[in-house]
Amino acid sequence: MKPRIFDAHCDTVFELQEQKKELNRNDLHLDLQRMEEYEGYIQVFAAFVDQKSICGTCMNHCIALLERMHREIEKNSKQITLIQTAEDLEEVIEKQKIGAVLSIEGGEALEGNLAALWMYYRLGVRLITLTWNHANEIADGITQSRGGGLTDFGRQAVAAMERMGILIDVSHLSVKGFWDVAEMTQYPFVASHSCVKALCPHPRNLDDDQIDLLISRRGGIGINFFPEFLTQRPDCIIQDILRHMEYILCRGGDETVGLGSDFDGVEALPADMTGVQDMGQVVQAMLDYGFTQNQVKNIRFENFRRIFHETMRRSM
Ligand SMILES: [Zn+2]
Repeated sequence: MKPRIFDAHCDTVFELQEQKKELNRNDLHLDLQRMEEYEGYIQVFAAFVDQKSICGTCMNHCIALLERMHREIEKNSKQITLIQTAEDLEEVIEKQKIGAVLSIEGGEALEGNLAALWMYYRLGVRLITLTWNHANEIADGITQSRGGGLTDFGRQAVAAMERMGILIDVSHLSVKGFWDVAEMTQYPFVASHSCVKALCPHPRNLDDDQIDLLISRRGGIGINFFPEFLTQRPDCIIQDILRHMEYILCRGGDETVGLGSDFDGVEALPADMTGVQDMGQVVQAMLDYGFTQNQVKNIRFENFRRIFHETMRRSM
């Protein structure tokens, strides 16, 4: 059996919908048949909402993706379980099943309406990535040149998310937005799929101050497998993922660093991997690289388990 995994981000639902494929078996980065080879697999499935690329309203699009994921979970209920509470999470772990946590990538899905948060909560959403790369009603994304932070609505949404037990995700968010979130929140928050800027100077990556803040707050950083975020060399390999993990460990991030593969949200992966079947290889590489057993366990599973467990325990 391959080791137990907790992956904080994938965009597989979007691709299932676009390419009319099935979660059980497909030729994407991730499917249930390949996840079943693990001794338990918790995957955060994002409903990706980018107002620049969708027709119709952001909310309609988001609900359609969440509905699609609910249908897939119902259809494959022997293999995969929806996780909505800390108890669900622990039960899935105990039974060594596949668990799905639902998330939204892009706060435009709220369309500036706080009541939408309640609806999404009821639809099972337990993490929201506040922005994608552009600006929305909550804040500016990282490619928005004015670099604005949280709006008044954004502040209300973040406060409500903390109260409700929806995990706040700052991947893609502007730097100002990151610090606004840090200042106004009390509980751990995460960058679900971001890497280290000091190792690869991409705007999507986190600088040292952001990494240190997330460590001090016992938040999470899911290392993204996208070669452009990992290295400037053309020949990215699994070892490049490990360098980013090591950097965060060296700053004291044993309880912060984790996995945020971005499967099916990226056009490429390191040359020596093709999808979810290779997560076991990433874990083995961590051990070979010299990370301690405890560090590897934290990275592949325990850190995000703790953060999600604590967040969902606060739920209404
Ligand atoms: Zn993303």
